[in-house]
Amino acid sequence: MAIMLHSKEGMFRQGFFGLKCMFILICLVDCSPPEDPIKCSSKNADCTITNSYGAFPDRSICRAADVAYPTTEEDLISIVANATMTKRKMKVATRFSHSIPKLVCPDGQDGLLISTKYLNRVLKIDASTMMITVQSGVTLRQVINEAAKAGLALPYTPYWWGLTVGGLLGTGAHGSSLWGKGSSVHEYVVGLRMVSPGGPQDGYAKVRVLDSSHIDLNAAKVSLGVLGVVSQITLRLQPLFKRSVTFLMKNDSDLADEAVSFGNQHEFADVTWYPSQRKAVYRMDDRISSNVSANGQNDFMGFRWQTSLTLALVRAAEENQESTGNAEGKCIDSKLTTSTLTANAYGYTNNGVAFTGYPIIGYHNRLQASGSCLDTVEDARITACPWDPRVKSQFFHQTTFSIGLSKAKSFIKDVQKLVESEPKAMCGVELNNGILMRYVKGSGAYLGKEEDALDFDINIL
Ligand SMILES: Cc1cc2nc3c(=O)[nH]c(=O)nc-3n(C[C@H](O)[C@H](O)[C@H](O)COP(=O)(O)OP(=O)(O)OC[C@H]3O[C@@H](n4cnc5c(N)ncnc54)[C@H](O)[C@@H]3O)c2cc1C
Repeated sequence: MAIMLHSKEGMFRQGFFGLKCMFILICLVDCSPPEDPIKCSSKNADCTITNSYGAFPDRSICRAADVAYPTTEEDLISIVANATMTKRKMKVATRFSHSIPKLVCPDGQDGLLISTKYLNRVLKIDASTMMITVQSGVTLRQVINEAAKAGLALPYTPYWWGLTVGGLLGTGAHGSSLWGKGSSVHEYVVGLRMVSPGGPQDGYAKVRVLDSSHIDLNAAKVSLGVLGVVSQITLRLQPLFKRSVTFLMKNDSDLADEAVSFGNQHEFADVTWYPSQRKAVYRMDDRISSNVSANGQNDFMGFRWQTSLTLALVRAAEENQESTGNAEGKCIDSKLTTSTLTANAYGYTNNGVAFTGYPIIGYHNRLQASGSCLDTVEDARITACPWDPRVKSQFFHQTTFSIGLSKAKSFIKDVQKLVESEPKAMCGVELNNGILMRYVKGSGAYLGKEEDALDFDINIL
């Protein structure tokens, strides 16, 4: 489905190999938060926008005549009305702009970007109804943290903190689960306010207020930003709970048979597959009683800051291997990456400090997502998120596709046959931590999944 080429883009695990991992562990200085993706030559006019990877930096590819920064819904209405009256094309942009496709580029030369950077407030959280209402530029991290303060949890989310609620809904973003309503955040939307172009009778902007009884919510909650600007979202939460996480590495010989049933066995199951190494890591992850005392934490190694020198060395080594066709080198480095990650439990700790063994038990808000590289303050020339385009850093082709659960077994077997005929062919994928397989349920949203599926996220140089 078109939408699935979109967002998941699966970039949730950034590639890196052993050398990089070692630097992560010893880097002791502060780092730099990501740059604003929008740049204008004069104040808010004559602008370019790229994504967080800097994948389309050229102004001939993605430009806008100007950018507006609403802070309230009233601002938004007036911006949309003015642009509608003058027949301008509009696109919504976010603080970090994580999508890989150029969804954010306005058509033509006279387009207007409407940034949700300052629509960043949590408006209401109600512990008794278990609902949170946020402006659309609020990040996933804010939702998780604010919910936890009220003793609540958004049960399934992407694994990276930096996405905005408007952006992740727009693209159908998800975590991994076949339980309940499944892992897509849009399944937990119970209310949404959207500002769309209107006619003169509406003052050229129309505010649509949709709740779960309204059939249009199924269109609006996953819309790729083409129906209007989502102003506010209300999500249904659950009481905060604890989880127990264990990563188990096994030979992949029975993966094709195991993959489908595994998703039903554990609430937060996923699988990371290393086809050339013929291994798969199963995430056995379930809710447990909150009485169990432990305070585990997820600080995924691929989402931590790294020194810019390390990033440049790693990138140069990858480029060298690629240009010389050094498959053996990639296989050696990918094994080092995998063993470093597994030895360090991917960045999970039992107490926020050290990994001492499985299971890792802790509150959901500390385990579901991470992104500590966002918290950095120093110059990007010293340290940065691993994909920061201001420095020579990671850059890879990202592909995500969904395969219906009924066909996933055949797909896995096909890949295994390819590996049998060309054993080193997938080492490049493993440099970037293999193929992440996540479970996503069929959805009533018009642009959601048509059926229960496994999503395969692959990053290659
Ligand atoms: C490091 C990283 C990790 C990721 N991890 C995951 C993951 O675990 N799971 C997953 O599914 N995906 C993941 N993704 C992909 C991600 O889901 C999408 O790229 C994401 O949804 C983009 O969110 P954003 O806030 O950056 O929005 P953007 O990329 O800026 O916007 C996405 C689209 O939504 C539209 N939009 C944004 N806000 C609004 C609004 N208020 N109203 C109307 N339209 C709007 C934009 O116009 C655009 O079309 C990850 C991406 C990265 C870079």
